Amino acid sequence: MRLSDFRNEPYADFSKPENAAPMRAALAQVRAGFGKDYELRIGGERFRTGDLLKSINPSNPDEVVGLHHKATAELAERAIAVADAFFPAWAAAPAAERIAALRRAAAILRRRKLEFDAWLVYEAGKSWAEAEADVSEAIDFCDYYALLAERQAVPEALVQLPGERDEMRYLPLGVGVVIPPWNFPLAILVGMTTAALVTGNTVVVKPSSDTPTIAAKFAEVLEEAGFPAQSYTMMVGSGAEVGDLIVTHPRTRFISFTGSREVGLRINELAARTAKGQIWIKRVIAEMGGKDAIIIDEDADLDAAVQGVLWSAFGYQGQKCSACSRAIVSEKLYDAFLEKLAAKVQEIQVGPADDPANYMGPVINEKSMKSILDYIAIGRAEGRVVAGGNRLQGNGYFLEPTVIADILPESRIFQEEIFGPVLAVTRAKDFEQALAMANNSEYGLTGAIYSNNPAKVERARNEFFVGNLYINRKCTGAMVGAHPFGGFNMSGTDSKAGGPDYLLWFTQAKSIAERIS
Ligand code: NAD
Repeated sequence: MRLSDFRNEPYADFSKPENAAPMRAALAQVRAGFGKDYELRIGGERFRTGDLLKSINPSNPDEVVGLHHKATAELAERAIAVADAFFPAWAAAPAAERIAALRRAAAILRRRKLEFDAWLVYEAGKSWAEAEADVSEAIDFCDYYALLAERQAVPEALVQLPGERDEMRYLPLGVGVVIPPWNFPLAILVGMTTAALVTGNTVVVKPSSDTPTIAAKFAEVLEEAGFPAQSYTMMVGSGAEVGDLIVTHPRTRFISFTGSREVGLRINELAARTAKGQIWIKRVIAEMGGKDAIIIDEDADLDAAVQGVLWSAFGYQGQKCSACSRAIVSEKLYDAFLEKLAAKVQEIQVGPADDPANYMGPVINEKSMKSILDYIAIGRAEGRVVAGGNRLQGNGYFLEPTVIADILPESRIFQEEIFGPVLAVTRAKDFEQALAMANNSEYGLTGAIYSNNPAKVERARNEFFVGNLYINRKCTGAMVGAHPFGGFNMSGTDSKAGGPDYLLWFTQAKSIAERIS
């Protein structure tokens, strides 16, 4: 199959009763499994350390979703040792075996899709639609990386010198440490983990403390799919106690991280130091934050732009690395844009994520809620709040979608990643200035432009410095295979997850020349 023939997993339309009813049943079934405890499994052994990480429902923090036995430093060492010992066997296994296991994983996720949707609703606070998109993306990653691995197993022919047979093979690297974020607790975890495994690496995965149950459920999928127990460990634990240990371990060959810039840079620094006994330079794949802008040019379709900004800024409460947090609007449309946007924002319904009437659920945790409220306070001083600005009643971490206008490009809320439902709006006198403002950022992840002027669109193609540019559409919702994902500058290493070259990050190439006459 050609890569361009790949098709994304379709989303269930929950407005149809025949889809909504089974989703309700899945929510009830998952809720009945709340509060269970999850052992730590390393190789074939199970451990109960008694030091429990409590994962809660951010829509109602009194509800415990799962209890997870945290790894100690000693167990983290053991996880690396098991992965290291098993690596040669897994690397030598036929690629077809690993690919078949990955295809089975996709099929299991597809079968358990609604159940996974429900875990995401409860543990990550995703709306039904956002959860469905996350699980669909996880399935896409499995299928797409299986396809890529098949192609990598039969590389393109090299130039054949006279009297020689010349070839190149892709070999796995070794033990990988996989550190995903909580905001795509299934898709990103699955993408990073399976890319490493299918290419023949073994992994120690440390999921986010906010979403460990989703990770534990995916470990069940890997097991059922036939990935050997020694090929992966799913291990929760504190960054300070086990995070640093697995990153700095001399047998760790690479680290695949997605998360904040602060943690990513620290991991990059730690990984750059050579530990005693280490015989390689560790590879770091680090996908980090964003401060993504949408330019609304004077030639834009205003209603389409308002809708695109709304979805991009407030889908999943603005907690996407790709979320629009800066709208840069032509002064000719500025007042009309704000008026239309504010009216639509006020209609957004916020509340518990399991109620499909709510477009927005809670933010992930209390710390995050406080940090976002602090940014809103900064924004009040730096600009004019035209919608939202407050915490909502209720036990959950509910915030109003917030729009702050008249923000200057030097302002903190124009420059710093807030990672919540807060949009800064800025006025631009012309397209030139709008583009300069959009590029005035340490980040460079996603961006969009709304314009019907081909010359300006062409300039954006060339000069808008982001890893993922969107034209006349929202800047969120990258699809596997169609929108390879990753950003420039402080947004990370631009590894382009879901793209044709992604698996190269998990391999090293060996060139072989044989004299044949
Ligand atoms: P985070 O950096 O706080 O945490 C990411 C992961 O790192 C978590 O699993 C966390 O447990 C772990 N971690 C924290 N300290 C550690 C340490 N010392 N050693 C090892 N691991 C450690 O980020 P987050 O809050 O989970 O996620 C939100 C961030 O992720 C945002 O900045 C967002 O933009 C970014 N993100 C980027 C992308 C992308 O593709 N560029 C995608 C999703 C999210």
